[in-house]
Amino acid sequence: MKKNIAIIGSGFSSLSAACYLAKKGHNITVYEKNSDLGGRARQFKANGFTFDMGPSWYWMPDVFEKFFNDFNKSSKDYYQIEKLNPAYRVYFGLDDYIDIEDSIEKISDKFEKIELGSGEKLKKFLSKAKENYNIGVSDMLYKMPGLSPLELVSIKTIKKIRYFISTIRKEVHRDFKNPKLRSILEFPVLFLGAKASNTPAFYNFMNYADFGLGTFQPKNGFSDLVNAMVSLGKNLGVKYRTNHTLKSIKIKDNKVNKLIFENREFDCDILISGADYHHTESLLPTKSRQYSEKYWSKRIFAPSSLLFYVGFNKKINNVTHHNLFFDTEFDQHAKEIYDDPRWPSDPLFYANFTSKTNPGTAPKNCENGFFLIPIATDLEDTEEIREKYFELIMEKLEKFTKQTLRSSIVYKRSFCVSDFKKDYNSYGGNAYGLANTLFQTAFLRPNIKSKLVQNLYFCGQLTVPGPGVPPAIVSGELVANLIN
Ligand SMILES: Cc1cc2nc3c(=O)[nH]c(=O)nc-3n(C[C@H](O)[C@H](O)[C@H](O)COP(=O)(O)OP(=O)(O)OC[C@H]3O[C@@H](n4cnc5c(N)ncnc54)[C@H](O)[C@@H]3O)c2cc1C
Repeated sequence: MKKNIAIIGSGFSSLSAACYLAKKGHNITVYEKNSDLGGRARQFKANGFTFDMGPSWYWMPDVFEKFFNDFNKSSKDYYQIEKLNPAYRVYFGLDDYIDIEDSIEKISDKFEKIELGSGEKLKKFLSKAKENYNIGVSDMLYKMPGLSPLELVSIKTIKKIRYFISTIRKEVHRDFKNPKLRSILEFPVLFLGAKASNTPAFYNFMNYADFGLGTFQPKNGFSDLVNAMVSLGKNLGVKYRTNHTLKSIKIKDNKVNKLIFENREFDCDILISGADYHHTESLLPTKSRQYSEKYWSKRIFAPSSLLFYVGFNKKINNVTHHNLFFDTEFDQHAKEIYDDPRWPSDPLFYANFTSKTNPGTAPKNCENGFFLIPIATDLEDTEEIREKYFELIMEKLEKFTKQTLRSSIVYKRSFCVSDFKKDYNSYGGNAYGLANTLFQTAFLRPNIKSKLVQNLYFCGQLTVPGPGVPPAIVSGELVANLIN
């Protein structure tokens, strides 16, 4: 039967759920508090520069393709996409960097030059990671709404049990001794939001996503994907309402009865929230909330981030589209994110320059830069602190890339913990949800369907399957399937 379904938030999980449910003939309205659609993947323009505000690594292209194929479309019907080569550059110090190229063969050759025997080991490591990818992504991801532990049990997963007990750290350290190779292989764990020593080895499928499938770039960044999903949704009849902040959810007879926005009220048969889970529950009467404040305070959240969007009035040398600055020990930085939350003493950071592959994202002969330092959630982030870290990373950028840059800055904006809270109602200012540790996987994540309110569902990076754009899209499909 056709239902009136309200969806809160316009992140990828909400955009995905909207399309799947509209395809089934339901009447869908998406309500977004901000003035732009896309959630953490919003884009903004300033002084001729275009900046993606959040995600920048387009990994697992098969997940995006499957989404469009489900509507008899392809990503190519909406945007151009290119495989990057090099995929990214990792700086370890002055005159010391490694470019990760676009095939396992080339990457293995590079490994071999750095550590004797590591080329073959990498190929073996990746063939196991590929098996895990095929089981994890193709078999499990789409079949796990997290309703029961049994979803995890199959002949294929039982054979892989050792990968759920071991950790990424153990597997990588067993096979590779060189600290640079180790940190490159542990890098994808950052997307899962926890330490390598706390992430099940099964997630090494991210290494296959990285080296085996590669890093892609939609011509205009993730906004191409947002626009494509919204355009698809509009064709299916989805209505999008920006500048609509949900203020409270009224419950009657254990069902959502009314949605209260700033100046208006709406009815719905079903409510799905793609907004941060904790925030959504805070809009319910206390007795309708499934999880206490204590529950949330005990979860391991993915880090927050200190971000800078910077316009330079000249071209920057010695950088590629994606660049990691790993000149420092990540273990200490990770400790300062997860174990002893504080501003990092010597942070690693990430920089991307989309104008390297799409000159249209910066004025002529200029470059746009996006800088990210992962940090603990809930830190105090004053202007002075942000500035201190900006100076620190600019100093390193200038040193390692051998040029002066600070005098060429013509635009700068920062974004940090307090902005994540203000703009997205994010718990503790987390940047990308709840980490994927063993005890926060599948049925151990917050429920996709409320146990206390009959017609209330959740999607997005705090529920199944987890953080990242591909999982967010899958999350939308999972909640839609459950409703259908
Ligand atoms: C800096 C950064 C870098 C990242 N890099 C990558 C990357 O390279 N690759 C990758 O795959 N992933 C990356 N991620 C993670 C990825 O962007 C997210 O996991 C994904 O976009 C989350 O989608 P979502 O649907 O869960 O919700 P969100 O994008 O968080 O959207 C939730 C929406 O709900 C809205 N909302 C909140 N409260 C209300 C309310 N009361 N009323 C109405 N609306 C409300 C918010 O405004 C927001 O728009 C990154 C994230 C960040 C922040």
